[in-house]
Amino acid sequence: MANLILILGDQLSPQISALENANPADDRIVMAEVADEAGYANHHKKKLVLLFSAMRHFGEQLKAAGWRVHYHDFAADSEYKSLEDVVAGQLTAQSCERVITTECGEWRLHEQISQWHTRLGVPVEIRPDTRFIASKKEFADWAEGRKQLRMEFFYREMRRKTGLLMTADGDPEGGHWNFDADNRKKWTGKPAAPAPFRLEPDDITRQVIELVNRHFADHFGTTEDFHFAVTRQDAEAALEHFIDYALPCFGDYQDAISDTEDWLFHSILSPYINCGLLDPLTACEAAAQAWYSGRAPINAAEGFIRQIIGWREFVRGIYWLHMPDYAKENRLGNSRSLPWFYWSGKTQMRCMHKAIDATRRNAYAHHIQRLMVTGNFALLTGIKPQEICDWYLAVYADAYDWVELPNVLGMVMHADGGYLGSKPYAASGKYIHRMSDHCANCHYNVNKSTEDDACPFNALYWHFIDRHRDDFENNPRMGMMYRNWDKQSPDRREALLTRAEWLLDNVENL
Ligand code: FAD
Ligand code: SF4
Repeated sequence: MANLILILGDQLSPQISALENANPADDRIVMAEVADEAGYANHHKKKLVLLFSAMRHFGEQLKAAGWRVHYHDFAADSEYKSLEDVVAGQLTAQSCERVITTECGEWRLHEQISQWHTRLGVPVEIRPDTRFIASKKEFADWAEGRKQLRMEFFYREMRRKTGLLMTADGDPEGGHWNFDADNRKKWTGKPAAPAPFRLEPDDITRQVIELVNRHFADHFGTTEDFHFAVTRQDAEAALEHFIDYALPCFGDYQDAISDTEDWLFHSILSPYINCGLLDPLTACEAAAQAWYSGRAPINAAEGFIRQIIGWREFVRGIYWLHMPDYAKENRLGNSRSLPWFYWSGKTQMRCMHKAIDATRRNAYAHHIQRLMVTGNFALLTGIKPQEICDWYLAVYADAYDWVELPNVLGMVMHADGGYLGSKPYAASGKYIHRMSDHCANCHYNVNKSTEDDACPFNALYWHFIDRHRDDFENNPRMGMMYRNWDKQSPDRREALLTRAEWLLDNVENL
């Protein structure tokens, strides 16, 4: 029986479960660039280039390995608009009797594919995605009966399961599970941040850049200076580059933000891990080895591994446990529209401008920019969760629904009522000032709160605290904030709230 094996754009791994036990002599592979998938969000142009080019390279590698691959190139006037159209066409053309695929990373598409057996009239086998360390069921079993989920406890399970940074006696290497307390240094320019791994586009990538510029001209961002890896081999070289040059300082400066450096000591590996070019465990093992061989300190290796086997697995588990209802959560009752400067970058708030500008140029901003700058501002101003989620899904090369949604809706917006995070990551300008050198170059004054030129984050922070008293006053991690707020004089509180109201009324012009 000939099978039609569908490989999606974020499943670019020869180990993908859909290929297990497949037979190159009989089975056919189908891969497709289709308008429905490329156009349902305002995907950054670099994200489209990365995915189309990586898919094309992977398709070529499969062919070279002896597979018969039908690769559907994007064409604006194609009659095949959706994956289903392409699969239906190939079932007939190739006389296949069954579809095999690996579960996809998005509820929307998962729902569609789950119905294909009735719509296409053939069996459709959806296999688990074995690239993750915890299966959906394993996560659901761990979560069962817990009112709130905490990443730290799940992470310890994953350390035990993988054996990463574990002693032979089953204890964490270095005597602690988590070295996060060491990872909060401000970066002052030294040691110099390494240049990110860069590759010149090859012929395939250049063709894709042209295609994206022609057909997706109105999408966010730019294709200029495209330098991402688009093959497995190059993604592994990017991992080596990170281990050699950035990992040693990854931990120390994990929370730092810079006015001049876009990438600092981050790995810039999420675009590759998420589309299948790089195996997450391979990346973690490389970091662990760097520590064992004395090339990186424990706070760096542990911090990096925690992000992958902890946070990455944790948010995926939450997504599949609670979709589709999770996407509708808005427990703080936010109703404000996303300010236009999230797309244009035109704001006098230096930290926001820098984060959005880097996002526009690179399809990348590091975690603290996403969480404590653009995310924090959306939280403080009460942006509708769905609008800010749509923005994050569109603008980053690593953005897929399963990872973006819990990070934005849960971690940043606290819209799930604290299910994912024990307290909102709300912060005033003081935090941004402590972790960055933006404020010295800003139109606003971070040391002021109520004056016309005062940093907007300051008054907005207190307004957030005040308007959500019912939500957070009894949260043990927020009690001190309320004591600090209540300690301020009535005049001071009123001036802060008046300033914040003005800012909220004029949010488009900040
Ligand atoms: P590094 O800082 O080098 O971290 C190493 C790796 O850890 C990353 O490559 C990534 O695979 C993993 N990781 C770190 N933090 C997280 C996290 N919170 N959730 C999942 N994986 C994590 N990550 C995405 O992959 N896609 C997204 O769409 C995405 N959206 C985000 C939106 C918001 C508002 C926030 C706060 C975070 C988001 N993240 C997302 C998580 C994180 O910001 C990115 O994974 C990280 O910035 C990617 O850059 P890097 O590879 O240099 O990461
Ligand atoms: Fe951002 Fe405020 Fe600092 Fe300006 S002063 S960079 S708005 S934190």
